[in-house]
Amino acid sequence: MKHALLGASKAAQWINCPPSARLQESVPEDPSEYAEEGTVAHALAEIKLRRRLTLCDSKQRKALDAEYEKIKTNPFYGPEMEQAVQEYVELVEIRVMAAKARSSDAVVLLEEHLDYSDWVEEGFGTGDVVLIADGVLEVIDLKYGKGVPVSAYNNPQPRLYGLGAWAGYNYLYSIDEVYMTIIQPRLDSVSTDIMPIADLLEWAESVVKPAAVLAFAGEGDYCAGDHCRWCKVKGNCRARADENMKALAYEFKDPALMDLEEIGSILFITEQLKVWAKDVEDYASGQAMKGNPIPQWKLVEGRSNRSISDKDAAIAALRATELGTDKFLKPEELLGIGELEKRLGKKEFAALLGTWIVKPPGKPTLAPETDTRPAMNSVENDFANTDMED
Ligand code: SF4
Repeated sequence: MKHALLGASKAAQWINCPPSARLQESVPEDPSEYAEEGTVAHALAEIKLRRRLTLCDSKQRKALDAEYEKIKTNPFYGPEMEQAVQEYVELVEIRVMAAKARSSDAVVLLEEHLDYSDWVEEGFGTGDVVLIADGVLEVIDLKYGKGVPVSAYNNPQPRLYGLGAWAGYNYLYSIDEVYMTIIQPRLDSVSTDIMPIADLLEWAESVVKPAAVLAFAGEGDYCAGDHCRWCKVKGNCRARADENMKALAYEFKDPALMDLEEIGSILFITEQLKVWAKDVEDYASGQAMKGNPIPQWKLVEGRSNRSISDKDAAIAALRATELGTDKFLKPEELLGIGELEKRLGKKEFAALLGTWIVKPPGKPTLAPETDTRPAMNSVENDFANTDMED
Protein backbone atom coordinates (compact mmCIF):
# COMPACT_ATOMS: atom_id res chain seq x y z
CA MET A 1 0.00 0.00 0.00
CA LYS A 2 1.40 3.42 -0.98
CA HIS A 3 1.77 5.90 1.90
CA ALA A 4 1.97 9.67 1.59
CA LEU A 5 5.04 11.32 3.07
CA LEU A 6 2.69 13.71 4.86
CA GLY A 7 0.06 11.17 5.75
CA ALA A 8 -2.96 12.12 7.86
CA SER A 9 -2.17 9.59 10.58
CA LYS A 10 1.21 11.30 11.12
CA ALA A 11 -0.18 14.83 10.85
CA ALA A 12 0.26 15.62 14.56
CA GLN A 13 3.98 14.94 14.06
CA TRP A 14 4.67 16.90 10.89
CA ILE A 15 2.46 19.84 11.92
CA ASN A 16 4.22 20.18 15.29
CA CYS A 17 7.66 18.99 14.20
CA PRO A 18 7.91 19.56 10.42
CA PRO A 19 11.36 18.00 9.76
CA SER A 20 10.24 14.73 11.42
CA ALA A 21 8.62 13.50 8.18
CA ARG A 22 11.81 13.46 6.10
CA LEU A 23 13.85 12.27 9.08
CA GLN A 24 11.69 9.14 9.33
CA GLU A 25 11.52 8.56 5.59
CA SER A 26 14.39 6.10 5.43
CA VAL A 27 13.60 4.32 8.70
CA PRO A 28 11.80 1.06 7.92
CA GLU A 29 8.40 0.50 9.46
CA ASP A 30 8.61 -1.84 12.45
CA PRO A 31 6.14 -4.65 11.79
CA SER A 32 3.74 -4.69 14.69
CA GLU A 33 1.06 -7.22 15.40
CA TYR A 34 -1.28 -4.41 16.46
CA ALA A 35 -0.97 -2.86 13.00
CA GLU A 36 -1.63 -6.24 11.35
CA GLU A 37 -4.61 -6.84 13.60
CA GLY A 38 -5.94 -3.36 12.71
CA THR A 39 -5.61 -4.12 9.00
CA VAL A 40 -7.63 -7.33 9.39
CA ALA A 41 -10.32 -5.49 11.40
CA HIS A 42 -10.56 -2.78 8.72
CA ALA A 43 -10.88 -5.39 5.98
CA LEU A 44 -13.65 -7.12 7.93
CA ALA A 45 -15.42 -3.79 8.54
CA GLU A 46 -15.30 -2.95 4.84
CA ILE A 47 -16.80 -6.31 3.87
CA LYS A 48 -19.62 -5.96 6.38
CA LEU A 49 -20.35 -2.36 5.36
CA ARG A 50 -20.33 -3.17 1.65
CA ARG A 51 -22.68 -6.09 2.32
CA ARG A 52 -25.10 -3.86 4.24
CA LEU A 53 -24.82 -0.43 2.68
CA THR A 54 -24.14 -0.92 -1.00
CA LEU A 55 -26.17 -2.49 -3.77
CA CYS A 56 -24.49 -5.78 -4.65
CA ASP A 57 -25.45 -8.25 -7.33
CA SER A 58 -25.18 -11.95 -6.53
CA LYS A 59 -21.66 -12.19 -7.98
CA GLN A 60 -20.42 -9.31 -5.78
CA ARG A 61 -22.17 -10.77 -2.73
CA LYS A 62 -20.49 -14.09 -3.37
CA ALA A 63 -17.09 -12.41 -3.67
CA LEU A 64 -17.67 -10.54 -0.37
CA ASP A 65 -18.76 -13.74 1.36
CA ALA A 66 -15.64 -15.50 0.11
CA GLU A 67 -13.47 -12.66 1.48
CA TYR A 68 -15.34 -12.91 4.80
CA GLU A 69 -14.63 -16.65 4.98
CA LYS A 70 -10.97 -15.97 4.23
CA ILE A 71 -10.77 -13.43 7.06
CA LYS A 72 -12.25 -16.01 9.44
CA THR A 73 -9.13 -18.12 8.89
CA ASN A 74 -6.81 -15.25 9.84
CA PRO A 75 -5.13 -15.81 13.24
CA PHE A 76 -6.18 -12.30 14.36
CA TYR A 77 -9.86 -13.01 13.74
CA GLY A 78 -11.97 -14.20 16.67
CA PRO A 79 -15.19 -13.44 18.61
CA GLU A 80 -13.74 -10.22 20.03
CA MET A 81 -12.94 -8.85 16.56
CA GLU A 82 -16.25 -10.05 15.14
CA GLN A 83 -18.16 -8.28 17.86
CA ALA A 84 -16.14 -5.07 17.96
CA VAL A 85 -16.37 -4.67 14.18
CA GLN A 86 -20.08 -5.48 14.28
CA GLU A 87 -20.60 -2.72 16.87
CA TYR A 88 -18.71 -0.31 14.63
CA VAL A 89 -20.80 -1.32 11.62
CA GLU A 90 -24.03 -0.80 13.57
CA LEU A 91 -22.88 2.66 14.69
CA VAL A 92 -22.02 3.56 11.09
CA GLU A 93 -25.46 2.37 10.00
CA ILE A 94 -27.08 4.70 12.55
CA ARG A 95 -25.08 7.60 11.07
CA VAL A 96 -26.08 6.54 7.55
CA MET A 97 -29.76 6.41 8.57
CA ALA A 98 -29.45 9.87 10.13
CA ALA A 99 -27.89 11.16 6.88
CA LYS A 100 -30.69 9.56 4.85
CA ALA A 101 -33.27 11.08 7.16
CA ARG A 102 -31.79 14.51 6.40
CA SER A 103 -31.69 13.86 2.69
CA SER A 104 -33.02 10.88 0.74
CA ASP A 105 -30.15 11.13 -1.75
CA ALA A 106 -27.43 11.02 0.90
CA VAL A 107 -24.05 9.96 -0.46
CA VAL A 108 -22.33 7.00 1.24
CA LEU A 109 -18.69 6.30 0.30
CA LEU A 110 -16.55 3.48 1.67
CA GLU A 111 -12.74 3.30 1.64
CA GLU A 112 -12.65 6.55 -0.28
CA HIS A 113 -9.37 7.96 -1.61
CA LEU A 114 -9.19 11.45 -0.11
CA ASP A 115 -6.83 13.94 -1.70
CA TYR A 116 -5.89 16.94 0.44
CA SER A 117 -3.02 18.03 -1.81
CA ASP A 118 -4.52 21.55 -2.16
CA TRP A 119 -2.90 22.21 1.22
CA VAL A 120 -0.32 19.45 1.58
CA GLU A 121 2.05 18.45 -1.22
CA GLU A 122 1.17 14.91 -2.36
CA GLY A 123 -1.19 14.59 0.61
CA PHE A 124 -3.79 11.85 0.43
CA GLY A 125 -5.36 9.23 2.66
CA THR A 126 -8.22 6.75 2.80
CA GLY A 127 -11.47 7.56 4.58
CA ASP A 128 -13.17 4.49 6.06
CA VAL A 129 -16.61 6.08 5.60
CA VAL A 130 -17.67 9.41 4.09
CA LEU A 131 -21.28 10.62 4.23
CA ILE A 132 -22.66 13.70 2.54
CA ALA A 133 -26.21 14.88 3.16
CA ASP A 134 -27.97 18.20 3.41
CA GLY A 135 -24.94 20.45 3.84
CA VAL A 136 -23.20 18.07 6.26
CA LEU A 137 -20.12 16.08 5.35
CA GLU A 138 -19.11 13.39 7.83
CA VAL A 139 -15.93 11.34 7.86
CA ILE A 140 -15.87 8.27 10.09
CA ASP A 141 -12.69 6.52 11.12
CA LEU A 142 -12.43 3.12 12.80
CA LYS A 143 -9.74 2.71 15.44
CA TYR A 144 -9.51 -0.95 16.34
CA GLY A 145 -6.74 -0.62 18.95
CA LYS A 146 -7.60 -0.35 22.62
CA GLY A 147 -4.22 0.57 24.09
CA VAL A 148 -4.49 4.33 23.58
CA PRO A 149 -7.83 6.15 23.54
CA VAL A 150 -8.13 8.37 20.45
CA SER A 151 -10.52 11.30 20.35
CA ALA A 152 -11.78 13.17 17.29
CA TYR A 153 -11.52 16.53 19.08
CA ASN A 154 -8.76 18.75 17.68
CA ASN A 155 -7.39 15.69 15.92
CA PRO A 156 -5.65 16.62 12.64
CA GLN A 157 -6.12 13.16 11.11
CA PRO A 158 -9.92 13.26 10.64
CA ARG A 159 -9.65 16.98 9.85
CA LEU A 160 -7.39 16.20 6.89
CA TYR A 161 -9.81 13.49 5.76
CA GLY A 162 -12.59 16.08 6.03
CA LEU A 163 -10.58 18.49 3.89
CA GLY A 164 -9.89 15.77 1.32
CA ALA A 165 -13.58 14.85 1.13
CA TRP A 166 -14.58 18.50 0.83
CA ALA A 167 -12.01 19.04 -1.93
CA GLY A 168 -13.37 16.04 -3.81
CA TYR A 169 -17.06 16.79 -3.52
CA ASN A 170 -17.70 20.48 -2.86
CA TYR A 171 -18.19 21.13 -6.57
CA LEU A 172 -21.11 18.69 -6.53
CA TYR A 173 -22.66 19.35 -3.11
CA SER A 174 -22.94 22.41 -0.96
CA ILE A 175 -21.19 21.65 2.34
CA ASP A 176 -21.58 23.91 5.38
CA GLU A 177 -20.37 21.72 8.22
CA VAL A 178 -17.93 18.87 8.65
CA TYR A 179 -18.44 16.15 11.26
CA MET A 180 -15.33 14.17 12.13
CA THR A 181 -16.06 10.95 13.97
CA ILE A 182 -13.75 8.38 15.51
CA ILE A 183 -15.22 5.06 16.65
CA GLN A 184 -13.09 2.92 18.93
CA PRO A 185 -15.40 0.00 19.65
CA ARG A 186 -13.15 -1.92 22.04
CA LEU A 187 -13.13 1.12 24.34
CA ASP A 188 -16.84 1.84 23.81
CA SER A 189 -15.79 5.24 22.56
CA VAL A 190 -17.42 7.42 19.91
CA SER A 191 -16.34 11.04 19.53
CA THR A 192 -17.40 13.60 16.95
CA ASP A 193 -15.81 16.99 16.40
CA ILE A 194 -17.91 19.42 14.38
CA MET A 195 -16.51 22.38 12.45
CA PRO A 196 -18.12 24.86 10.09
CA ILE A 197 -16.38 24.40 6.74
CA ALA A 198 -15.07 28.01 6.92
CA ASP A 199 -13.20 27.20 10.17
CA LEU A 200 -11.78 23.98 8.74
CA LEU A 201 -10.53 25.81 5.66
CA GLU A 202 -9.06 28.58 7.82
CA TRP A 203 -7.19 25.93 9.88
CA ALA A 204 -5.94 24.34 6.66
CA GLU A 205 -4.59 27.65 5.35
CA SER A 206 -3.10 29.00 8.55
CA VAL A 207 -1.80 25.84 10.27
CA VAL A 208 -1.56 22.97 7.80
CA LYS A 209 -0.26 24.71 4.69
CA PRO A 210 2.79 26.43 6.24
CA ALA A 211 3.73 23.31 8.24
CA ALA A 212 3.36 21.11 5.14
CA VAL A 213 5.65 23.36 3.06
CA LEU A 214 8.37 23.03 5.70
CA ALA A 215 7.75 19.32 6.24
CA PHE A 216 7.86 18.47 2.55
CA ALA A 217 11.16 20.33 2.21
CA GLY A 218 12.53 18.70 5.38
CA GLU A 219 12.88 22.13 6.99
CA GLY A 220 11.66 23.87 10.13
CA ASP A 221 12.40 23.27 13.77
CA TYR A 222 12.32 19.98 15.59
CA CYS A 223 9.87 20.16 18.44
CA ALA A 224 9.26 17.38 20.95
CA GLY A 225 5.91 16.73 22.61
CA ASP A 226 3.11 14.19 22.91
CA HIS A 227 3.25 13.70 19.13
CA CYS A 228 6.66 11.93 19.53
CA ARG A 229 4.82 8.83 20.81
CA TRP A 230 4.44 7.28 17.34
CA CYS A 231 7.57 8.78 15.75
CA LYS A 232 9.95 6.18 14.30
CA VAL A 233 13.00 8.01 15.69
CA LYS A 234 11.60 8.64 19.16
CA GLY A 235 14.37 6.53 20.75
CA ASN A 236 17.33 8.33 19.17
CA CYS A 237 15.98 11.81 18.40
CA ARG A 238 18.33 14.52 19.65
CA ALA A 239 15.63 17.20 19.92
CA ARG A 240 13.58 14.92 22.16
CA ALA A 241 16.66 14.09 24.24
CA ASP A 242 17.46 17.82 24.61
CA GLU A 243 13.90 18.54 25.67
CA ASN A 244 13.98 15.79 28.27
CA MET A 245 17.40 16.81 29.56
CA LYS A 246 16.05 20.35 30.00
CA ALA A 247 13.50 18.88 32.36
CA LEU A 248 16.37 17.52 34.45
CA ALA A 249 17.76 21.00 34.99
CA TYR A 250 15.07 21.61 37.59
CA GLU A 251 16.23 24.28 39.95
CA PHE A 252 16.24 23.16 43.56
CA LYS A 253 15.96 26.05 45.97
CA ASP A 254 16.33 26.31 49.72
CA PRO A 255 15.18 24.99 52.15
CA ALA A 256 16.66 21.49 52.16
CA LEU A 257 13.31 19.74 51.72
CA MET A 258 11.09 20.31 48.70
CA ASP A 259 7.55 21.48 49.25
CA LEU A 260 4.50 19.67 47.82
CA GLU A 261 4.22 22.20 45.00
CA GLU A 262 7.70 21.22 43.81
CA ILE A 263 6.97 17.50 44.23
CA GLY A 264 3.89 17.96 41.99
CA SER A 265 6.04 19.51 39.24
CA ILE A 266 8.67 16.79 39.52
CA LEU A 267 6.04 14.06 39.14
CA PHE A 268 5.21 15.42 35.67
CA ILE A 269 8.91 15.32 34.77
CA THR A 270 9.34 11.75 36.00
CA GLU A 271 6.36 10.57 33.92
CA GLN A 272 7.87 12.13 30.81
CA LEU A 273 11.33 10.73 31.58
CA LYS A 274 10.03 7.20 32.18
CA VAL A 275 8.42 7.10 28.73
CA TRP A 276 11.52 8.53 27.06
CA ALA A 277 13.89 6.19 28.95
CA LYS A 278 11.89 3.18 27.76
CA ASP A 279 12.04 4.41 24.13
CA VAL A 280 15.83 4.93 24.33
CA GLU A 281 16.27 1.48 25.89
CA ASP A 282 14.17 -0.18 23.17
CA TYR A 283 16.14 1.61 20.47
CA ALA A 284 19.50 0.62 22.01
CA SER A 285 18.44 -3.05 22.40
CA GLY A 286 17.22 -3.07 18.80
CA GLN A 287 20.55 -1.71 17.56
CA ALA A 288 22.57 -4.18 19.63
CA MET A 289 20.44 -7.08 18.31
CA LYS A 290 21.13 -5.90 14.76
CA GLY A 291 24.85 -6.14 15.46
CA ASN A 292 25.49 -2.45 16.21
CA PRO A 293 26.95 -2.59 19.71
CA ILE A 294 26.29 0.31 22.08
CA PRO A 295 29.58 1.57 23.61
CA GLN A 296 29.91 0.61 27.31
CA TRP A 297 26.99 -1.83 26.99
CA LYS A 298 26.72 -5.43 25.85
CA LEU A 299 24.01 -7.94 25.08
CA VAL A 300 23.73 -10.67 27.68
CA GLU A 301 21.39 -13.58 28.10
CA GLY A 302 18.37 -12.52 30.15
CA ARG A 303 16.86 -14.58 32.93
CA SER A 304 14.94 -17.64 31.80
CA ASN A 305 12.81 -20.25 33.51
CA ARG A 306 13.11 -24.01 33.28
CA SER A 307 10.42 -25.63 31.16
CA ILE A 308 9.22 -29.14 30.31
CA SER A 309 9.96 -29.82 26.65
CA ASP A 310 7.36 -32.64 26.24
CA LYS A 311 4.42 -32.26 28.62
CA ASP A 312 2.60 -35.38 27.36
CA ALA A 313 5.67 -37.56 27.96
CA ALA A 314 6.12 -36.03 31.43
CA ILE A 315 2.47 -36.70 32.34
CA ALA A 316 2.75 -40.29 31.07
CA ALA A 317 5.87 -40.82 33.19
CA LEU A 318 4.09 -39.47 36.29
CA ARG A 319 0.94 -41.52 35.65
CA ALA A 320 3.07 -44.66 35.52
CA THR A 321 3.98 -44.05 39.18
CA GLU A 322 1.89 -44.58 42.32
CA LEU A 323 1.35 -40.81 42.62
CA GLY A 324 -2.22 -39.50 42.64
CA THR A 325 -3.00 -36.99 39.86
CA ASP A 326 -3.49 -34.26 42.49
CA LYS A 327 0.26 -34.49 43.03
CA PHE A 328 1.14 -33.44 39.46
CA LEU A 329 -1.93 -31.98 37.68
CA LYS A 330 -3.41 -28.56 38.36
CA PRO A 331 -7.09 -28.49 39.27
CA GLU A 332 -9.33 -27.04 36.52
CA GLU A 333 -8.98 -23.29 36.57
CA LEU A 334 -11.14 -20.54 35.07
CA LEU A 335 -9.41 -18.30 32.54
CA GLY A 336 -8.91 -14.62 33.38
CA ILE A 337 -11.59 -12.03 32.50
CA GLY A 338 -9.66 -10.57 29.54
CA GLU A 339 -9.06 -13.98 27.97
CA LEU A 340 -12.67 -15.08 28.54
CA GLU A 341 -13.97 -11.87 26.96
CA LYS A 342 -11.65 -12.40 24.00
CA ARG A 343 -12.74 -15.99 23.46
CA LEU A 344 -16.47 -15.49 24.04
CA GLY A 345 -16.91 -11.96 22.67
CA LYS A 346 -18.21 -9.09 24.83
CA LYS A 347 -21.95 -9.82 24.47
CA GLU A 348 -21.73 -13.55 25.18
CA PHE A 349 -19.35 -12.84 28.06
CA ALA A 350 -21.77 -10.33 29.61
CA ALA A 351 -24.79 -12.59 29.10
CA LEU A 352 -23.16 -15.64 30.65
CA LEU A 353 -21.04 -14.15 33.38
CA GLY A 354 -22.23 -10.56 33.91
CA THR A 355 -23.87 -11.42 37.27
CA TRP A 356 -20.56 -12.48 38.77
CA ILE A 357 -18.31 -9.76 37.44
CA VAL A 358 -17.49 -7.34 40.22
CA LYS A 359 -15.10 -4.44 40.24
CA PRO A 360 -13.67 -3.57 43.64
CA PRO A 361 -12.55 0.04 44.17
CA GLY A 362 -9.05 0.61 42.78
CA LYS A 363 -6.01 1.33 44.92
CA PRO A 364 -5.53 5.11 45.37
CA THR A 365 -3.25 6.34 42.58
CA LEU A 366 -1.81 9.77 41.94
CA ALA A 367 -2.99 11.29 38.67
CA PRO A 368 -2.64 14.78 37.17
CA GLU A 369 -5.50 17.24 37.78
CA THR A 370 -6.48 16.93 34.13
CA ASP A 371 -7.35 13.21 34.58
CA THR A 372 -11.07 12.64 33.97
CA ARG A 373 -11.59 10.37 37.01
CA PRO A 374 -13.16 12.08 40.06
CA ALA A 375 -10.75 12.91 42.90
CA MET A 376 -10.82 10.58 45.93
CA ASN A 377 -10.81 11.89 49.46
CA SER A 378 -7.56 11.27 51.26
CA VAL A 379 -7.64 8.60 54.01
CA GLU A 380 -7.14 11.34 56.61
CA ASN A 381 -10.11 13.30 55.27
CA ASP A 382 -12.31 10.20 55.39
CA PHE A 383 -11.45 9.72 59.06
CA ALA A 384 -11.90 13.41 59.76
CA ASN A 385 -15.45 13.23 58.30
CA THR A 386 -16.27 10.17 60.41
CA ASP A 387 -15.19 11.99 63.56
CA MET A 388 -17.35 14.96 62.72
CA GLU A 389 -20.39 12.77 62.07
CA ASP A 390 -19.81 10.92 65.35
S1 SF4 B 1 10.87 12.25 18.14
FE1 SF4 B 1 9.60 14.04 18.31
S2 SF4 B 1 11.01 15.76 18.17
FE2 SF4 B 1 12.07 13.98 17.34
S3 SF4 B 1 11.67 14.01 15.16
FE3 SF4 B 1 10.13 12.70 16.06
S4 SF4 B 1 8.38 14.09 16.42
FE4 SF4 B 1 10.20 15.38 16.11
